[in-house]
Amino acid sequence: MNVKLHRLNNLETRIVNLYSDGKYNEAIELANKLLESAGKAEDKKSMMNAYMNLAGCYYSLGQIESAFENVLEYKQLCDEFGDDRDKYYLYNLSAIIYEFEENYEEAKAAILECIDLALEFEMYHSLCESYNTYSSYLIIENNFEAALKYAQIAMNFAKSHYPSNVLLQCQIYINIASAYIGLEQIEVAKEILDSLQSNPYINSNIHETGNYYYALGKLYKKSRKYSTALLKLNEAYLIFESYNDQVMLKSISKESASIYELIFDFENACNMWKRYIDYSEKLFALRLSSKIKELDIKHSVAAIEKRANIDTLTGVYNRYYLETTCNTWLKDRNHTDSQVCCIVLDIDHFKVINDSYGHLVGDEVIKAVGETCLNVICENKQNSLIGRYGGDEFVAILKNISPPRVLQKARELFIALSNLKVPHLQDVIQVTVSMGVVSTESVPSVKKFTQLFKVADQALYIAKKQGRNQIVFLSNDNCY
Ligand code: GH3
Ligand code: MG
Repeated sequence: MNVKLHRLNNLETRIVNLYSDGKYNEAIELANKLLESAGKAEDKKSMMNAYMNLAGCYYSLGQIESAFENVLEYKQLCDEFGDDRDKYYLYNLSAIIYEFEENYEEAKAAILECIDLALEFEMYHSLCESYNTYSSYLIIENNFEAALKYAQIAMNFAKSHYPSNVLLQCQIYINIASAYIGLEQIEVAKEILDSLQSNPYINSNIHETGNYYYALGKLYKKSRKYSTALLKLNEAYLIFESYNDQVMLKSISKESASIYELIFDFENACNMWKRYIDYSEKLFALRLSSKIKELDIKHSVAAIEKRANIDTLTGVYNRYYLETTCNTWLKDRNHTDSQVCCIVLDIDHFKVINDSYGHLVGDEVIKAVGETCLNVICENKQNSLIGRYGGDEFVAILKNISPPRVLQKARELFIALSNLKVPHLQDVIQVTVSMGVVSTESVPSVKKFTQLFKVADQALYIAKKQGRNQIVFLSNDNCY
């Protein structure tokens, strides 16, 4: 790793740490530095990271307009350079937008996508946050039992993966307590909130302090200690007011109004409802003025998914897609009893082409080979796919095909590639290839692409060893 890259990675870790400690202003300062350095180094991934962190910090500080400005910058880069992990952030963003619009059905659907992605990519901190966010949506919907379940899942992951991340656990505890309040289990909720009272993390993080007082307000309301409830809600109100978190201010006004109604103080209830309406209108105006609608998340996710499956040089599938699709086909074999076949092919002495004509011409040859493979193999897209495994090596996977037929297909491809002529200046470049072919009929126990590929690759190795420019088919008689 070069020094500059190392420095940027360092900066990114520090920003993430500051962010998870709730030190948003310090995180913003560093994220701006990261943006500047990454911009100079044209390191798009670090730039995306900086924008994402800036958006998160501004959002947590209630500066919604600034948050969305950074989101739009992030999205622009994401459309071109995003990878599968960025899908997590895109879905997370769309959840926030839906949350803003109080469309909790869609917000929950987006967070479920986040949970799947975080699990797939083993992003456990994000996973805890997503489970916890899901729980908080369920609390808003008064579905307290499910809310408790999801917050507890979040807590299990937090304790096993981040035993020393106190802030993360505090955030989850607040949701667990809120779910218990909803379930009328006041004593349990009180015990949890009491245990958080002297926690330095709760007290040093403005957002969590506000959430803590808000939960206490709800607790005292349920315990019918209305004046204490109003005091706690007022504390929460002052905290969220200090950084203008209008979404929270709106919720607190509503909660306070309902308490004033319960104690027949209609004058104050009326004032609180006025406040509530005021915030609703402000939020509505903000919604219209911000450029949220420009944020077409689905488009970005589709762009990433397309790119994530395709090899950029040749346009055939990449190794990741080959592997995941082949694994599905192998699994389906349990129900359908059909065979899956693998053809591995590698250009002979490709290094000579690179050395004689240069790397760029080498690229053109790889592209032409990919195109020929696509034409021969993929006439039936449902049952066959072709991908680039890496370098000058391609892999075709075919299903529902008998061994003689797959061998015939391999021969067809072999001939097509032997006839391939790649024009270069006045010249043409020709290639020969070696191939290894195998069917699950010969190796019925394979369950994964890697196992099937390994056998086909052994066949390819034999083909190379026997003098190249040939096909080796491992059948029942000679398969090891
Ligand atoms: P063999 O017959 O044993 O396969 O000999 P080979 O020269 O083809 O050797 P091998 O397959 O091991 O090497 C492939 C070479 O392809 C090595 C690497 O320099 C080159 N290569 C890998 N990826 C690319 C690429 O994207 N473009 C170009 N032009 N060359 C690449
Ligand atoms: Mg080769």
